[in-house]
This record gives sequence, C-alpha cells and structure tokens, in this order.
Amino acid sequence: MPQFKAPVDDVRFLLHEVLDAQQLTALPGYEEATPDLVDAILDEAAKLSENALFPLNQSGDQEGCRFENGVVRTPTGFKEAYETFVAGGWTSLAGDPAYGGQGLPKLLEFVMTEMFSAANLSFSIYPGLSHGAYNALEAFGTETQKSIYLPKLLDGSWSGTMCLTEPHCGTDLGLIRTKAVPGDIDAATGEQSYKLTGTKIFISAGEHDLTDNIVHLVLAKLPDAPEGVRGISLFVVPKFKPKAENGSWQAGPRNGIACGSIEHKMGIKASSTCVMNLDEAEGYLVGAPHKGMRAMFVMMNAARLAVGLQGLGVAEVSYQNALAYAKDRLQGRALSGAANPDKPADPIIVHPDVRKNLLTMKAFTEGARALAFWIGLTIDHQINNPDPKARQEADDLVQLMTPIIKANLTDMGYEAANLGMQVLGGHGYIQEWGLEQYVRDARITQIYEGANGIQALDLVGRKMPAHMGRYLRRFFHPVAEFLEQNRDDPAMAEFIRPLARAFEQLQMITGLVAQRGLENPEEAGAASSDYLRMFGLVALGYMWARMAKAAGQQLPQANGRADFYDAKLKTARFFMKRILPQTAALALAIKGGAEPLMAMDVDQF
Ligand SMILES: Cc1cc2nc3c(=O)[nH]c(=O)nc-3n(C[C@H](O)[C@H](O)[C@H](O)COP(=O)(O)OP(=O)(O)OC[C@H]3O[C@@H](n4cnc5c(N)ncnc54)[C@H](O)[C@@H]3O)c2cc1C
Repeated sequence: MPQFKAPVDDVRFLLHEVLDAQQLTALPGYEEATPDLVDAILDEAAKLSENALFPLNQSGDQEGCRFENGVVRTPTGFKEAYETFVAGGWTSLAGDPAYGGQGLPKLLEFVMTEMFSAANLSFSIYPGLSHGAYNALEAFGTETQKSIYLPKLLDGSWSGTMCLTEPHCGTDLGLIRTKAVPGDIDAATGEQSYKLTGTKIFISAGEHDLTDNIVHLVLAKLPDAPEGVRGISLFVVPKFKPKAENGSWQAGPRNGIACGSIEHKMGIKASSTCVMNLDEAEGYLVGAPHKGMRAMFVMMNAARLAVGLQGLGVAEVSYQNALAYAKDRLQGRALSGAANPDKPADPIIVHPDVRKNLLTMKAFTEGARALAFWIGLTIDHQINNPDPKARQEADDLVQLMTPIIKANLTDMGYEAANLGMQVLGGHGYIQEWGLEQYVRDARITQIYEGANGIQALDLVGRKMPAHMGRYLRRFFHPVAEFLEQNRDDPAMAEFIRPLARAFEQLQMITGLVAQRGLENPEEAGAASSDYLRMFGLVALGYMWARMAKAAGQQLPQANGRADFYDAKLKTARFFMKRILPQTAALALAIKGGAEPLMAMDVDQF
C-alpha cells in the first residue's frame, strides 16, 4: 500500500530558516501570520492531507468519475472529503476578508497546494479551479459579480472552472468559435446578459456532485469581435443562475450549459474532464469586451504556478514511496561487501544507481519546493507591499518565473515519478504499489495550462525581452549578490563555485539566445525548451546554495536535528556535483542552433 506523510519538517525549514517568511507579518493585512500561526495551520493541513485526502487517492483512481444522465458522480468518499475540506476553511485561506476570506498570505496557499496535490491530485483540482475563477473575478469582475460569486467560491459552496479549449483549438485560442450575443438585462442581477453558444472540451471540474453550483469562466467572441486573440471576451456563466433570497445569493434556475460527456483518460481519473455544451447559456461579461485574454491571463498565471506545485506534490509522494521500498527490498549485495550479512541480501538502497535515482528525486523535490515557496513569498510582496517599487520588482520576478515553475516543476515531477517506479522495479509497474498511478497522474501536468513547450516560448519570446531584460535582472541580481556575499566563505566554496559556473553559462547563453532570436525567431523557438531547463537548473542551484547556507548555520546548534541539516548539506553537494553540470550539455545543445531542426523537409520526417 502506498504511504504519505506531509513534509512538514521541510516546509518549516524553508519558511522559517531559509526564506524568513516572518517578514510577511510586516506587510499590511498579514500581521497575524506569525510563525506560530503558520505552524498550527501546517499541522492541520498535514492531518487533512494524510487522513482525509490520501486514503481516497488510490480508490478514487480505481473507481474514477461516472457520467450518469447528464450528471457526474465523483468517486466514493469525495463528497464527504470535500465537506471536511470546506468545514476546515481550506477554500478561503488566502481570500479577501471583505468576501469571507481569511486573508492569509498566498505563500500558505502554495504550501497547501503542494501538500493537497501530493495527497490526492485529482481531489485538489476541484478547489484549485475555484481559486482560478476567484482570481479572475476579483481582478476584473463588476461589483455585482464580486458580491455574488466571491463569497460562494470562498465558502466552497460553489466551485469554478476555466472553459477555454474547443475541439479545434487548444494552444491557439485565437481560433475559438463559441459565440456570445447580447441578450436582455438580467432581472435578478441587473447585469447585461449575453447568450453563449458553442462547445468546450477537456473542462476540468466542468460537472460534478461536490457543490451546489458551478461558476464557469468562458472565453467567447462577440459579434463585432476582431480576428484572433484580440477578439476574445471573458464571461461568467453559472450552471444555476443566481437569485436573491433572504438577503443573500443562491443557486436559482438552471442555465443552458451542460456536460455532454466525460473523457476516459490516462490519469487524474477522479477529476472529471468534461465536454461542456453551451446552448444560449446566459453569461455576463467579465472585464472589457474583446479584452478577455487579459483577464484570462490573471487566472492562467495563478493556475500555471499551481500546476507547477502539482508536479512537485507528485514528486514528493513518489519519493516517499520509493524510499520506503528501497530500504525494505532485499536484492543483491553492496559492491563494497555485504551490508546486511545476517540476511539473504542487502536492501537495494545500498546500490549506487538506486541511490542516484533516490537522490535525484530528493534533490529535485526539495530544491523545487524552495523555489516555488520563494515565488509564493514574492507574490505576497507583489500584492501587499506598500512600496510601489517593491511591488513592481516582485511582479517582474513572478512574471519571469511563472513559465519556469510551471514547466520545470512538472517535467521534473514526471521524471521523479518515473524514477520512483524504477526504484520499485516490476512492483512499480503494478497497481498495488501506487507508483504507476503517480506516473499517470503527473503526465497531464506537463500538458495542461499551456503545454510545456509553450511555457518555454513564453520565457524566450515574452519574458526574456520584456522591458529590455528587466524581468531577467530580477533573478540575475539576487543570484549575483548571493555569489558575491558568499564568495570568501570557505564553508560555502563547494556550493558557490559550481553555482557561479552554471550562472555564468546561463548569462552567456541568455545573450546568445536573445541575439540569435532577434535575427531569426526560429532560433529562439529552437532554443526555448533547453533554455528553460537550463534556467530551471540554475534556479534550483541558487536555492540549494541558500539551503546549504541555512543548514550550515543551523548545524552547530542543531541538537536533535543534526541529521536533518547534515542531509541537507549532502543533498546540496549531490545537486551541485551530479545534477547542475547538466547545464553545460544544455548550453552546447542550444549553441547547436535551429538549423539541425529546420533543415529537414516535412516529407523527410
Ligand atoms: C485532463 C485534461 C484537463 C484539462 N483541463 C482543461 C480545463 O480545465 N480548461 C481548458 O480550457 N482546457 C483544459 N485542458 C486542455 C489543455 O489545456 C490543452 O490540451 C492544452 O492547452 C494543449 O492544447 P491542445 O491539446 O489542443 O494541443 P495543441 O494546441 O494542438 O498542441 C499540440 C502540441 O503542439 C505544440 N504546439 C502548439 N502550438 C505551438 C506553437 N505555436 N509553438 C510550439 N509548439 C506548439 C504544443 O506544445 C503541444 O505539444 C485539459 C486537458 C486535459 C487532457
């Protein structure tokens, strides 16, 4: 049977000893987010993940969702788990207190997203999409829309979706065909209504039995829309239209949006993936006409970071299970002589190659967690720092790192799940042990919310050149500063030297990609995914150096935790010596340019 323990110790190390999350208490609105409160929330989240969500992960996968007479039934236990989730206040954690939220830092939302995804990725998708809908409506909704939908999304009684994809368009949203034509003024809300007609596919949580209502955010085109993405508008289309009752908003009459079928798919089987048919469904414009992509990007950027955390969560649970197996499974003898002479064989954790797999998983998971939480903390500055310059700088860094977190953490999450399966050998391939589910579940994270190749294009095409490299400087400057500050510290030399080398390569390759891309955009496209990977490795290297520094400082007074800090230093060494050097190969591949990719005629493939 698979097992899961929330990585609370590691989270605490990052929040309190590496990232200094206590700084958030100095930001307006976060005064109460003290280390004690954060620790108490972590403990509760761990209990929920381990006792309510994780036990439904395997059974949910095996049972899957069912589509019956237009209704989607989630697997046994999901409804009760969702009720527990809502009762614990987990849907409102970082929401605006004006709408019933708890106003806690976004950083905590990051921590929870990883934990809940690790425990049960399918389950976490339902409340996860509500966050996305909340973000878009909070930023672009009318006051009426905010007063109707935000409290319901925060109290968990209504959930959200993102309806973008259509049968003929996924990446290229400029091609969407769903039409919106102006209708009457809605009597209940006083808002101008629109009638939406079209078909959306692959809609996560499009229909389910967990909430009283579902709030769809739908991309569609108005009759006078310009061609392409400049002609897309965003609408809120509730499954049940809101009606005022006893001074509050409730789910009223059924709207013309319905689930036509659900997909049978490789993984996340307990998350419903729906075909949604809109037949003159009533919707209300969110934001300005034809400016839907702007609003959608608010939702998508938050969702992209959340998907990165999903990759991280699956990596963590895969690592835990691979580690337990490797300590237990007896096969062969250690190359240096029997480690376990009284037993017929040694545990496979003695073998260097098994260790390499485990350490790759561990180094990735802990490094990625640090990177993601650093960006979570930065988001809190982006939103709440009273200094406009600090807000701008935080925003730049978040913009830059969003495609890196999305693509890198999901690529590595999938790799980690695969390595975990390898550690279990044939047993990894068998359902009972859980690893094969993690591999299947992790795979979609590399595809949805913008396939990872598209994230790489976003990095080289938008983020790299933005404001003459200003976004890049928000990452390059703190790394350069850290290297400078620690250059003369002998205890840090083994971390600083390899990081400095890889960082230099990254800067050199950045210049090369920028220059070649200006001359020929295909050069930037050809470099993009290798460049994103390289960037991600350097970012993890920076986080590992910071963690090594914190661990080295804590070790002398560690008492009972010496092993924890010592393991951090050893993992940091592994990362610097065995993983980070991959940047050199990536740099060479990028230098190889676009020609080897583009020289082949289509018929020659
Ligand atoms: C389980 C699941 C859940 C989903 N949930 C949702 C949801 O809730 N809401 C929603 O709207 N959608 C959802 N999707 C859809 C998902 O976001 C899309 O599948 C994804 O964006 C890719 O679109 P596509 O499948 O049409 O692939 P395509 O756009 O056809 O792309 C195919 C391949 O070509 C590459 N490619 C395409 N264009 C370019 C380009 N210009 N340059 C370089 N490479 C390119 C892509 O990277 C990809 O590898 C979901 C999909 C699945 C399978």
